[in-house]
Amino acid sequence: MKCPKCSKSDSKVVDSRVVRDDTAIRRRRECTDCGYRFTTYEYIEKIELMVEKHDGTVEEFERDKVKNGIMIACRKRQITPEKIETMVNEIYNDLITKSDNSGTVKTSQIGELVMEKLKNTDEVAYIRFASVYRKFKDVKEFMSELQNIIK
Ligand SMILES: [Zn+2]
Repeated sequence: MKCPKCSKSDSKVVDSRVVRDDTAIRRRRECTDCGYRFTTYEYIEKIELMVEKHDGTVEEFERDKVKNGIMIACRKRQITPEKIETMVNEIYNDLITKSDNSGTVKTSQIGELVMEKLKNTDEVAYIRFASVYRKFKDVKEFMSELQNIIK
């Protein structure tokens, strides 16, 4: 790391600490030549999450799409915007964990996660989302899903 003062490239780290909720490392460096002290940061570049659709095309993950879907399902239910926000954050973090080495997940993984969250939060919202998401082919399928929940 080049010294900003004398341009010599030798410096030693005099202090190092984790900052920004464990996502960055701040280093205090000292130029071994002139003794000038400066700070450098090491952090992870923006994590990109990609989504592979049913037809094989890949697009960037859109948080708002997931949030809108959940909001529609939760309409007129006793679910606060904060709760919805928390659900979206949890889904996003789960997706990052589940993504493959190129940072890609499948749309079906998103759908399943949303359903899982809604199922644990509000049964009506879950049924609404599931009925749209799964595009139930017949009434029987939908009714059996409904009965499982009412049980
Ligand atoms: Zn220097």
